[in-house]
Amino acid sequence: MTTYRVAVLPGDGIGQEVIPEATRVLQAVAKGAGIGFEFEQGLVGGAALDATGTPLPSATLTLCREAHAILFGAVGGPKWDGAPQEQRPERGLLAIRKELDLYANLRPARCFPMLVEASPLKRSVVEGTDIMVVRELTGGLYFGEPRGVEYFADGGARAINTMAYTSREIERVARVGFDVARRRRRRLASVDKANVLVVSQLWRDVVTKIARDYPDVTLEHVLVDNCAMALVHKPTHFDTIVTENTFGDILSDEAAILAGSMGMLPSASLGLAGAGGGAVGLYEPVHGTAPDIAGQGIANPIAAILSAAMLLRYSLDRAGDADRVETAVLRVLEKGHRTRDITPAGTGTVGTRQMSDLIVREVEAQY
Ligand code: NAD
Repeated sequence: MTTYRVAVLPGDGIGQEVIPEATRVLQAVAKGAGIGFEFEQGLVGGAALDATGTPLPSATLTLCREAHAILFGAVGGPKWDGAPQEQRPERGLLAIRKELDLYANLRPARCFPMLVEASPLKRSVVEGTDIMVVRELTGGLYFGEPRGVEYFADGGARAINTMAYTSREIERVARVGFDVARRRRRRLASVDKANVLVVSQLWRDVVTKIARDYPDVTLEHVLVDNCAMALVHKPTHFDTIVTENTFGDILSDEAAILAGSMGMLPSASLGLAGAGGGAVGLYEPVHGTAPDIAGQGIANPIAAILSAAMLLRYSLDRAGDADRVETAVLRVLEKGHRTRDITPAGTGTVGTRQMSDLIVREVEAQY
């Protein structure tokens, strides 16, 4: 029997409520598919700070390095807000990304047909939207050198950040973009600002070159300003988008809002071999620790469960099982079950545990 090792890092707040539900769904998959999971729990974030004095204990990092994939909840909360920079829960997540060189961030934005009213856009515009944003995560403006502020004698100042990419950094994320598009509807939009930025010109040249290896994927180049407009004007135009760090940060949030609630959005961060199967990846809901609802058993577990589906698809190369989990979520929503966050007036009556019970049952029914 194939057994997969999954590092399970729930973190803080509702991370500790939704991640156990995602592992229950994976257990149901294991039973149905005849595979095994070894779930190894690790401390991260505020929970790790409280227990060990550091947001990423070395034992947790070792666990992550040895796993096929990492299932991550969320970190942070008011308790640690006053802590110095190095003692902040978020450092735990940033350190994992850096240590594992997780350079490609995948964020789907899908408008579920039965939740179309939760979108701020009109039904006629948003219906059918199903986008995957692949964002470069370790380079560009947020990390480029030189950076800093110089202060002048006259009281003025000058601040600088640098948007820099090597062709190698562009190539590896472009390949993830093409690989992801290949698993979807085979259309890739590469987003840049090549009419103004030389770094974008290099981006465009490299992506165009890589496209020769993917003749089955249709590539288009889109300027970032046009893309921002098109996402709210005609979101159904897009399938897979690949872009650099800063543009991706902004566009993935813009795309996310099309889908409605934070409680529905999964994500993946991939390193090494990219999306071709076998890459160690970190899978996490986009939402945070939601201190306002933590401990009440009302958090929506769907973002965490859909993150587990991405784990099956992108790290374990088990697309059929990933499809089953996604179908299970759709069926439960089709039957009208709702947590509070995905009903217009917060009238949903299903709690965290009940929602995942329903999804587990729908997963089991497909084997
Ligand atoms: P948040 O995502 O935690 O919450 C925003 C709003 O969405 C809240 O009203 C919350 O109740 C609601 N919400 C979020 N997820 C939900 C779910 N699954 N079901 C139902 N409702 C849900 O963002 P925030 O309030 O800005 O941040 C809270 C804490 O989380 C902060 O400490 C922040 O630093 C941290 N955070 C962590 C991550 C991460 O670990 N990746 C990401 C974002 C925020």
